[in-house]
Amino acid sequence: MERTFAMIKPDGVQRGLISDILKRYESKGLKIVAMKLMQISEEMARKHYAKHLNKDFFPELIRFITSGPVVALVLEGDNAIEVVRKLNGETNPQKASLGTIRGDFGISKTKNIVHGSDSKESAEREIQLFFSESEIL
Ligand code: ATP
Repeated sequence: MERTFAMIKPDGVQRGLISDILKRYESKGLKIVAMKLMQISEEMARKHYAKHLNKDFFPELIRFITSGPVVALVLEGDNAIEVVRKLNGETNPQKASLGTIRGDFGISKTKNIVHGSDSKESAEREIQLFFSESEIL
C-alpha cells in the first residue's frame, strides 16, 4: 500500500470542483486518509515548490498557490503516486488527455486544478509538510 500527497489548487476550489475531483480519486479506489481545507502561507508555498525556485514562472506559481484556499489530501492505495498522476493528467491542461482532471477541467498552465506528488521521496516530504502524524488516519 502506498501513500501520496494531492492538492486541489485554488482554482479548483474557487470553481466548485472539490466534489467532482474527490469523486474521481475515490471512484478509482483510492482511500482518503487525511484531508483539510487550508490557506497556504508564502513560506509553505516556497518550501513546497523549492525545486522550481529558479524558474521564470516561480513568482506566478507562489502568487497563485497562495491566492485562496486549497484542499490538501493524503491518498492511499496500490501504486497511489502513479495512479493520482494519471488521474490528474499532464501538467499543461491543453495537452492533457480528455478523461483526466486537468484535461477535462483546466486550460491554463499555472491554474491547472490539482497537484500530485511525483515520487516516493516527494510524497513523504509533502505529506510531512502539510500534515502532522495525528491528522493521518
Ligand atoms: P504538480 O507538481 O503541481 O503536480 P507537475 O508535477 O505536473 O505538477 P511540475 O513540473 O512539478 O508539474 O510543475 C509544478 C507546477 O508549476 C505545475 O503544476 C504548474 O502549476 C506550474 N508550472 C509548471 N510549468 C509551468 C510553466 N511553464 N508555466 C507556468 N506554470 C508552470
